[in-house]
Amino acid sequence: MNTSGRRLAERTARVKAAATRLGFDAVGIARADTLGPDYVRYRQWLDKGYHATLAYMDRNYDKREDPRRIVPGARSLVVVGQNYYTPHQHDASSDGGKIARYAWGDDYHDVMPPRLRSLASVLQEIDPEAESRVYTDTGPVLEKQWAVRAGLGWQGKHSNVISRSIGSWFFIGVVISTIELEADSPIEDYCGTCSACIDACPTNAIVEPYVVDAGKCLSYWTIETKPDVEIPLTIVGQMEGWLFGCDICQDVCPWNRFQQDCGEERFEPRLGETELSGEYLESLRQEDFSTRFRKSPLKRSKLAGLQRNARAVSTWRRLTAYESDTDQSTIK
Ligand code: SF4
Ligand code: SF4
Repeated sequence: MNTSGRRLAERTARVKAAATRLGFDAVGIARADTLGPDYVRYRQWLDKGYHATLAYMDRNYDKREDPRRIVPGARSLVVVGQNYYTPHQHDASSDGGKIARYAWGDDYHDVMPPRLRSLASVLQEIDPEAESRVYTDTGPVLEKQWAVRAGLGWQGKHSNVISRSIGSWFFIGVVISTIELEADSPIEDYCGTCSACIDACPTNAIVEPYVVDAGKCLSYWTIETKPDVEIPLTIVGQMEGWLFGCDICQDVCPWNRFQQDCGEERFEPRLGETELSGEYLESLRQEDFSTRFRKSPLKRSKLAGLQRNARAVSTWRRLTAYESDTDQSTIK
């Protein structure tokens, strides 16, 4: 290796060490380039309307295709993973609605950016000329595709990125920078012949391997739709008790046997709760909701949205109980 190659390797090692020191659980580097075929697949997904009403995904094409249109002169993307797995489970005996694992604690939109900005400062210490911008699900950046390019993992058939060392329970953050670093290589796809996520999805939202139709996904209906939009009965009938989000496709993934306790207090379930009861939500006043769910991902649904979801879960329970009674009487 020549001197400039050695220098590049050294500064890349410094950046990765800094990411680990800042508390990230995975880090990789991608070369700032056009996303090419990955971008084409994204456009095909949009063309099929699989983004449902998520209009923001259908904007800023040019930036999504090439990060150099976000940071002119960008040469590298530092992509990090933040594990959020905590060793708690949903209470099967609870009659509350289930909250998706990522939303048990504090909002990653609050936890990740300060750490990403610290990482960007390290880049600037190494190269004082470096210009960087940080993203975590906050702009026109296809984070999952960049995580794959940076070698953090592969995009599973459920569309989430899976790491061989920590599974899929992690958030992705990106620093786009003009600094030059040594790029990592993508890793193989280790889904193989498995189809557990596709088989387990209650709404058949994984319409083909690697393709999720948001318009069928419980996460979309319980998080992304406005509170005054009624959840269709076809979806309500398959809610499986989910109040906010859905973890089924990740819960069944065999790679999550490698999940590890993140040890981050801010991702622990608030008040120890992984479910919320419909009665509690119906009785909650707006000011108490704002206090209780400050800096929580649940505030995205708003109180009225959570109340709507709780009513849908309650309908799902009644439908399920009715079907079970009908089955029993048929058996008799
Ligand atoms: S989150 Fe739930 S509804 Fe959405 S694709 Fe996964 S299993 Fe299906
Ligand atoms: S459940 Fe199986 S097919 Fe789905 S993402 Fe995991 S390994 Fe891949």
